[in-house]
Amino acid sequence: MILELQNAILEMIARGEPLEKIVDLLCREVEVIAPDIVCSVLSVRDGLLHPLAAPSLPPHFSAAVDNLPAGPMSGSCGTAAFLKQPVVVTDIATDSRWSKYKDLALPLGLVACWSTPIMVGERVAATFAFYFRRNRGPNETEKRIVEASVHLCSIAIERDERLREREKLTYTDALTGLPNRARFNKVLAGLDNAISPWGILLVDIDNLKLVNDTFGHAAGDGLIQTVASRASALGGPDSTFRLGGDEFAIIVYRENAPDELERMAADILSSLSAACHCAGHVVFPKATIGGALAGADEAPDAVLQNADLALYHAKERSRGQYVQFADGLGTALTRRFRAIRDVGLALAQARIHAFYQPIVRLDNRQIVGFEALARMRTPSGEIVAAAHFHEATKDAQVAAELTQCMLEQVARDMRIWLDDGLPLQHVGVNLSAADLAGGNLNERICSVFEEAGVPLKHVIVEVTESVYFGQGGFDIGEEIRRLRSSGLRVALDDFGTGYASLTHLLTVPVDIIKIDKSFTDRLRPLDPAAFIVEGVIDIAHKLGIRVVAEGIEENAQAAQLLDLGCALGQGYLFSRAVDRDAAATLLRNYGQVAERPGQSRRA
Ligand code: C2E
Ligand code: CA
Ligand code: CA
Repeated sequence: MILELQNAILEMIARGEPLEKIVDLLCREVEVIAPDIVCSVLSVRDGLLHPLAAPSLPPHFSAAVDNLPAGPMSGSCGTAAFLKQPVVVTDIATDSRWSKYKDLALPLGLVACWSTPIMVGERVAATFAFYFRRNRGPNETEKRIVEASVHLCSIAIERDERLREREKLTYTDALTGLPNRARFNKVLAGLDNAISPWGILLVDIDNLKLVNDTFGHAAGDGLIQTVASRASALGGPDSTFRLGGDEFAIIVYRENAPDELERMAADILSSLSAACHCAGHVVFPKATIGGALAGADEAPDAVLQNADLALYHAKERSRGQYVQFADGLGTALTRRFRAIRDVGLALAQARIHAFYQPIVRLDNRQIVGFEALARMRTPSGEIVAAAHFHEATKDAQVAAELTQCMLEQVARDMRIWLDDGLPLQHVGVNLSAADLAGGNLNERICSVFEEAGVPLKHVIVEVTESVYFGQGGFDIGEEIRRLRSSGLRVALDDFGTGYASLTHLLTVPVDIIKIDKSFTDRLRPLDPAAFIVEGVIDIAHKLGIRVVAEGIEENAQAAQLLDLGCALGQGYLFSRAVDRDAAATLLRNYGQVAERPGQSRRA
């Protein structure tokens, strides 16, 4: 019979059945083989007893022994666990080791108890107990049964521990000790907003790469560990996950307050900002957070996606801050993703073309140069203006490719015009923030024009005010200086739309200022815009900077600008952007004829 039981139990272990189920069955079968005894198994963890199986004992009995410490006076089981050897108590009523617990056993008619420690290696992992209804110890058969059972339990427990250990490794991030992405996916899948409201925060470390690059990977690891411990101190060790790299997730249960998510994000940002020591360096952790609340019957996956969109948005627009998902955020981003995809495809299929809008002298309307503007030809042959797709230049990759594509076309077209002897002074090319951040812009531009044989004095790069004044978070002054020292000219685009201050021009000088269309639109006598434009023109001239007014659509605007001292303009009044052949024709007919020495060069 024992052999049969042994086989059944080993089979269950091999099948990977849960430990509780195996031990429970073992107890039941043992009670069948050895009638008149009650069997119980307690596990021992960190010196405390926990019921594992006791199918014939009432629940209150098990509840009462849960968490009891092992010790020299702790009943049969606690004492056996403490002494690491079997303990036989033949009279519970009088044995001092049972004095505190006898009232549990005696009312059930259990008067004697024999407990045997179950060892895993050198450690007591559990105890195996026989309760008797008579004052006696075990007989020979019972000894053999217990010997076999203890052995089986030891195998089952050891295996269970190994499984748990492996599970822990699978679901734990080695560097931080936090639950990892696999664990996060499991927990996320089980969330249900109908049961309790929840939300999710995605925390992204901003300066990890910088710390890795400047202080080394040990410091980077230290930064990750710091963020992990500060975030989990607030989010809770079971609800804070490291998803990988520099990204963490926190599941926030919101029974308490509807604004819990926002508050948690603010707390995390402020706790992160304190300096920490990472591998001997002082680092100020910086992070950006995106969050989303679970809607009424929203799938967890959708909530995660929303939080992802919010994080993406935050990283682009408000680094170092928290952005919570809201309807509309998704559509704006979808629009951008679509633009990025469209432009990427158009670049790959050579459907991006340089068009040229003339820049004219306002006095005689002769063409002094062009601004190159990107146009996208759709697969159906339509020509789309840049305003419809220039969102795509927020993607660094697309922006760099677009610039390269435009530079190459402009260089080729200019070489042709110069070869044809057309009176061309300069062409302006628009740059994106990513171009200036890339670090090799000057080399890129120089090599393109050198290869085409176009002198750099014919080239202008246009940089918008927001990029120029470092809203991208980096210093472009050095890059601008490099460009100018190679002989290129730099135009400050969209002047007046952002934070431009003329004092900036003293630290990072430019050659040309392009006054934004919004000012041109407001040029009416006595409108304050006119005074501002006049002031800008005046100061610019004193600094040796040329001024171009953009978006001129009416003769009156051109006349007033001329009055205010603005010599150059650009706008539909003169011409829209046209393709390269039409641009050549315009140059041939209206190009500014070479100036005679001594003639005013105010333009
Ligand atoms: P931007 O650099 O300020 O270019 C001027 C925009 O104003 C052009 O629109 C031009 O067609 C338009 N425009 C010119 N005159 C008038 C006018 O009198 N009235 C009106 N209503 N509009 C006028 P476009 O070509 O759609 O370009 C929009 C923006 O896209 C540009 O603004 C520039 O920031 C960007 N962009 C265009 N081409 C490129 C490019 O090759 N590279 C990069 N990075 N950005 C480009
Ligand atoms: Ca421009
Ligand atoms: Ca502009």
